[in-house]
Amino acid sequence: MLPSIFIHIPKDLFEPAATRSFEGAAHGFELRLGADEYTFEPPVTWSVEVTNTGGALLVTGSAAACCCCACARCLESAEYELEGQIEGYFLIPGEEAEVDDLEADEFDALPADHRIDLAPLIQAALVLEVPRVPLCTDDCAGLCPVCGQNLNEGVCTCVQEESDAPVNPFAVLKDLTFDD
Ligand SMILES: [Zn+2]
Ligand SMILES: [Zn+2]
Repeated sequence: MLPSIFIHIPKDLFEPAATRSFEGAAHGFELRLGADEYTFEPPVTWSVEVTNTGGALLVTGSAAACCCCACARCLESAEYELEGQIEGYFLIPGEEAEVDDLEADEFDALPADHRIDLAPLIQAALVLEVPRVPLCTDDCAGLCPVCGQNLNEGVCTCVQEESDAPVNPFAVLKDLTFDD
């Protein structure tokens, strides 16, 4: 569940060209992408600028968080500092705004209570920054495919035997016998 993060649009922002900044910190952000689960260490910090572009409110800013997930190689926890760009566009009901160039999913209507929930915008900003192949460290050695040993913690016997031998792609050929 995504906790809502509301900002209330004050009266003065309904003047064309008016602008105002908001910032805050949110707790309890979680995210699922396919089978992978990502959690954000609290707090997710955010700051936005809301600008009246004439008939609509443009919301731009950034969100930052520390993201925790499982390393794709060794399954230990991997942490990332993420920072994403927030962008939203809210039409003011009853006013004419230029939306000819926008797709339907690129803007929303400003709710009647003049509160904007930033949570979906912050989530969208962070999703784009989440690593598709998270690694605990760039040179994570992963797990031994034979015995499952975490190779960051120590080398197992199956790997030592293999890596001691010189790597020669034609080595298997010497054991082959060719029949006419
Ligand atoms: Zn790892
Ligand atoms: Zn092994």
